[in-house]
Amino acid sequence: MPFEFSTASRIVFGSGAAGEVASAAAHMGHRVLLVTGERAQRAAPLARALAAAGLTAAPLPISGEPAIGTIAAGSVYARGEACDMVIALGGGSAIDAGKALAAMLTNPGEPLDYLEVVGRGQPLRAPSAPFIAVPTTAGTGSEVTRNAVLAAPARGVKASLRSPFLLPRMAVVDPELTLDLPPALTASTGLDALTQLIEPYVSVRANPMTDLYAVEGLRTAASALPRAWENGGDREARCGMCWASLLGGLSLANAGLGAVHGFAAPVGGMFPAPHGAVCAALLAPSIEINVKALRQRAPLHPALARYDEVARLLTGRPQAAAQDGIEWVATLCRRFEIPPLSAYGVQPAHIPVLVSRAAEASSMKGNSIQLTSEELEEMLSLAI
Ligand SMILES: [Zn+2]
Repeated sequence: MPFEFSTASRIVFGSGAAGEVASAAAHMGHRVLLVTGERAQRAAPLARALAAAGLTAAPLPISGEPAIGTIAAGSVYARGEACDMVIALGGGSAIDAGKALAAMLTNPGEPLDYLEVVGRGQPLRAPSAPFIAVPTTAGTGSEVTRNAVLAAPARGVKASLRSPFLLPRMAVVDPELTLDLPPALTASTGLDALTQLIEPYVSVRANPMTDLYAVEGLRTAASALPRAWENGGDREARCGMCWASLLGGLSLANAGLGAVHGFAAPVGGMFPAPHGAVCAALLAPSIEINVKALRQRAPLHPALARYDEVARLLTGRPQAAAQDGIEWVATLCRRFEIPPLSAYGVQPAHIPVLVSRAAEASSMKGNSIQLTSEELEEMLSLAI
């Protein structure tokens, strides 16, 4: 069972944890690039705390998921402001942008020099500027992963900057910051978290340590996600989802993902569909097609027993099997009114190009079994 495990240098979890960011930042730098989502005013208390700690902050609000151009322009801005560290407060988009910008502050050139798939894929040579990640959604787990997903609009795909240097210096997970997430975002980000627990658990790269995290995360999310969606003010459920999301990030960063995330790269690159919504629509079809392929071509494969275990963790029933897990996920998606991918413009005519691009995506390498083009086509059709 040889394996390697890495994560953020320091994780601070708990209600009110965001109050620790400014004092920690004071030990890391002087001029902060403060990356947020569109609602930049959410960072006002943090900006005040940074000023009180003697730091100056250059604000950089990012709208939507970051593209290569956003990072290129943002790094020019950050260098102009002489920033020596980065804090990102927001959803996965803001945190991924923060990671990429922290790397570009200390590495020469442009993001394309280092991007995989669409860029030159060179390794980052210098450690990133100090970076603190403060998530305000419970889904991506980006606060503990070593990649930043960037859109390449000209190519119609998303690709990752990937390096151990992208791991944040500090991850601050404060469930209080997620209390005002609206139900639709709670649903889509929560289903991303669920996907990021299931895919690493059945991944070909799963290891004993990520298994511990995935099992605990699935058990927690199974009860916390419906409750957080029903009542956003349920602090216990919000705390559970932050915990599950963090565990998903720890799992995926060390065990990889699978077909859902393989499709998420091209679907999100070609259509204006948020990452969480894409994963949510593909999750049940992915389990169904994977289980079918495993039964047909590798009936003794250990992933089959793992899909049964996923079903037991989700349903809480000791006798549950893979099919029950598929039904549990599909029922939850119907209750959450998760739209099919056609709602974002994906049509049957797009299937061939999406399948060929998904097959190239790095996440696909973690899938429990290598799926054929026909199987990938069937999976995508079920999600459209
Ligand atoms: Zn994801």
